[in-house]
Amino acid sequence: MGDKTIEMPDAKGYFGEYGGQILPPQMIAIMNEINDSYEAVTKTDAFQQEQKQLFADYVGRPSPIYYAKRLSESIGGARIFLKREDLNHTGAHKINHCIGEALLAKHMGKTKVLAETGAGQHGVALATACALVGIECEIHMGEIDIAKEHPNVTKMKILGCKLVPVSRGTRTLKDAVDSAFEEYMKDPVNYFYAIGSVVGPHPFPKIVRDFQSIVGKEAREQFMLREGKLPDLLIACVGGGSNAIGLFTAFLDDESVKMIGVEPAGKGLDTKDHAATLTLGVKGAIHGFECYNLQDSEGNPLPVYSIASGLDYPAVGPQHCYLKDIKRVKYESVDDKECLDAFMQLSRLEGIIPALESAHAVAHAMKVAKTMSSDATILVNLSGRGDKDADFVAEQLSL
Ligand SMILES: *Cc1c(COP(=O)(O)O)cnc(C)c1O
Repeated sequence: MGDKTIEMPDAKGYFGEYGGQILPPQMIAIMNEINDSYEAVTKTDAFQQEQKQLFADYVGRPSPIYYAKRLSESIGGARIFLKREDLNHTGAHKINHCIGEALLAKHMGKTKVLAETGAGQHGVALATACALVGIECEIHMGEIDIAKEHPNVTKMKILGCKLVPVSRGTRTLKDAVDSAFEEYMKDPVNYFYAIGSVVGPHPFPKIVRDFQSIVGKEAREQFMLREGKLPDLLIACVGGGSNAIGLFTAFLDDESVKMIGVEPAGKGLDTKDHAATLTLGVKGAIHGFECYNLQDSEGNPLPVYSIASGLDYPAVGPQHCYLKDIKRVKYESVDDKECLDAFMQLSRLEGIIPALESAHAVAHAMKVAKTMSSDATILVNLSGRGDKDADFVAEQLSL
């Protein structure tokens, strides 16, 4: 089982024609050093013991699998199960790879962990992991985002990270990336740039996937134990693609298990307001790697949009691009309206308020469940909880 996780990427960080290191030579050297340390450090007993213990006692792993009976019965057709990543400490799957990255940085003897954040979800998860592990953390965030994302900004401050407001350019994520990267380049030997999904140059798509693969490993065992068979279909939302690849990896060799990644169609695939990278993107290089991405005719990244801020990224992880091309995973999209509907249905039928990101996966499960037989099963990765979205949704729906 799971041999493909070992096979891919190749030595240069490629998944088929995607991934790699589209970087200047001195950065390639730094990335290769991170890869070598990653391979050495994460195989030690000390690292594995520490990670295992923290996943159990701190994150609260394993997260349960829950049969959403009332939701399933209200739709008819396949039974829908949820992998409850929303129950993790800090409320989403991101803590899995943030703890991994913070531990890796510490074991490598780095002095500071750096990152950018947009809506603040990656910032909070990383600040949490750094507080836990005991390593300095610095998060760059656009001033516009700082004004919008008050609760996350407050949390980051409480958690003790250094929050750097970015006042240049659009004062949003794009400029925060540049700002954080400049700081990183001041001392890349002692600093660690913690990427927030399965994106960026090699080895990050591999590192983040490996730390997230615990989700699928647990789910496969839990589902077998409970149902005596594997699920027929896995569904997960795709921003950069970390929660999806985390669930999918353990099942890639199980031919009977179908998989769907769900992208945000925003206000519609025929508008400019979406982030359906795999559905509508073209092949090209962005942020140090090759993948499908949304770009204009000159190759500049297009503005992207989704009601779920964790999904609005103009690129996507290289392994997803590969899995799309070989047709191992299908990629579909769900628009804002369908997302909001699923958000409310899951809340009112199950008492589970999902993150708007995760509600995309739930919405697609609701669409396909009714086309499947009643002995079929769907396992949805419920990547996070919706506390952060509750006020916004209430306003949207005039509740
Ligand atoms: C950030 C986020 C996502 C999107 O990121 P992926 O790397 O695609 O998983 C999805 N769900 C939640 C709850 C998030 O916070």
